[in-house]
Amino acid sequence: MPPPRRFLAALKTVRVWIVLGVMAPLGMLLVSSFMLYELRQEMWARAEETSQNLLRVTETDIARNVEIMDLALRGMLAKIENPQVAAAPESLRQLLLFDRVVTADGMGILVLFDEHGNGVLNSRFPPNAGGTFLDRDYFDVHRRNPDLGLYISKPYESRMSGAYTVAFSRRVNKPDGSFGGVVVATLKLSHFTQMLAKIGLGPAGTLNLVRQDGIQIVRFPYDVRDVGTDVSGAPVFQRIVKERNGRFVERARRDGVRRLFTFTQVGDWPLILSIGMSTEEIEAGWRAKALMIGLTLLALFGFAVLLALLCGRELRRREAVEAELARLSLTDGLTGLPNRRRFDEALHQALRAAARSERPLALLIVDADHFKRFNDRYGHAVGDEILHGLARCLSACLLRPHDLVCRIGGEEFGVILPDTDVEGAARVAERLHHEVTTLALPAAGLPAGSVTVSIGLAEAAGTSPDELYRAADAALYAAKSAGRNRTCRAETRPAAAHLQLVAGSDVAFS
Ligand code: GH3
Ligand code: MG
Ligand code: MG
Repeated sequence: MPPPRRFLAALKTVRVWIVLGVMAPLGMLLVSSFMLYELRQEMWARAEETSQNLLRVTETDIARNVEIMDLALRGMLAKIENPQVAAAPESLRQLLLFDRVVTADGMGILVLFDEHGNGVLNSRFPPNAGGTFLDRDYFDVHRRNPDLGLYISKPYESRMSGAYTVAFSRRVNKPDGSFGGVVVATLKLSHFTQMLAKIGLGPAGTLNLVRQDGIQIVRFPYDVRDVGTDVSGAPVFQRIVKERNGRFVERARRDGVRRLFTFTQVGDWPLILSIGMSTEEIEAGWRAKALMIGLTLLALFGFAVLLALLCGRELRRREAVEAELARLSLTDGLTGLPNRRRFDEALHQALRAAARSERPLALLIVDADHFKRFNDRYGHAVGDEILHGLARCLSACLLRPHDLVCRIGGEEFGVILPDTDVEGAARVAERLHHEVTTLALPAAGLPAGSVTVSIGLAEAAGTSPDELYRAADAALYAAKSAGRNRTCRAETRPAAAHLQLVAGSDVAFS
């Protein structure tokens, strides 16, 4: 069969439809899964890039602020250490020390403390305002570490302004190198919170500016309770300190939210900036798409399976109808026996099998005697019942599974007897005659023995189906001629056989 026709033929089988019904949506599922996977990768790449950009911009901004602070402090130190400035009257020193940089956005004040923690000069308030500042961490730190450089304090609540503040400080050395006080520049935390609030990180996003030792300077979303807390014990912070630069996904211990953390050191300062974007928010758009595609696929899958099942059911129904039609086309409607078509087929097959196996094969043609008379006398319905009865009798006489009786004409039956020689067939014919004598239709007033049959018997000997049939038919004719209710055998040699059979071997039953 050429391939397209084979394909069309395959489409007619139930299994192929069911396989197609499952395979098609599975294919779609595979393609969609791959697309969704690609989409997710792309979305993560974008989120990582966005978070990296935000981090870089914010880090640059903070680093610049710290640098400005440091520059202001260095400028002050240079001036303080200048003997001419030191000798200048206080009002002039004030002017010289605090230039316009102190008005920088968010900057608090610049202060010069002496070694006792007293504010000698400051950029905003009268000297010595706020009393001693010995308790501030930067004071002690600078006194103990001459080479510390810039120190960034823990955030604290300003005594002067009440605002949360971070102090940037440097040590003042006396000419002999001993501790001579501290210069301090303060920056309100609000400077950071305002700046960080402008960054869109989503409702569950976080931004942390933390000192390298884990003291939190500011966290966004802002909560005053976070200011100055120690997060050095948090796993996320420990990982950030270890890696310094980079990103990872981790569940935050604090609120249980899984985030993509991107982090970096701020300039060269001992500060770490980290951005945390909620993975759920990153994936929200993708999840919506995945859900939609998933649901659509599910619906398609269900639809395809349903369609395949319906097609399968329809095909099964059709197959059943076709099988029934095929059966009916080979069955006689009145007696339920196989019909003439089936008889012809079966005779062909039986002859081929007999020729192959070199086993004998016999054929009986059984014809009701004077059947026309029964019809005429008892009516057609009784005639039908007699035919029924004959079918029953004939079937009852066949003992082997391969024996076959068919209705091949009006009141004519063919009996195929594989693996049976003439003697065997004659015994079967004898049984048939005997069985038919038992047939009675009391309701119709037909007693047992009323119906008789004549039988033509032929044995196959290399003959064709037609020849065998003709021989049996001729034998039947001989039986009729010889007075009916008997069996005549045919010599199965064609042609000449017909002439000899009557005289040959007729068996009379009466
Ligand atoms: P013979 O002994 O020579 O065979 O005589 P016969 O009357 O049996 O043979 P004939 O061929 O003259 O008549 C056969 C009759 O069978 C004619 C027909 O009415 C009847 N017949 C054929 N088919 C059916 C059937 O299905 N039902 C009934 N009731 N009668 C049928
Ligand atoms: Mg007849
Ligand atoms: Mg007949």
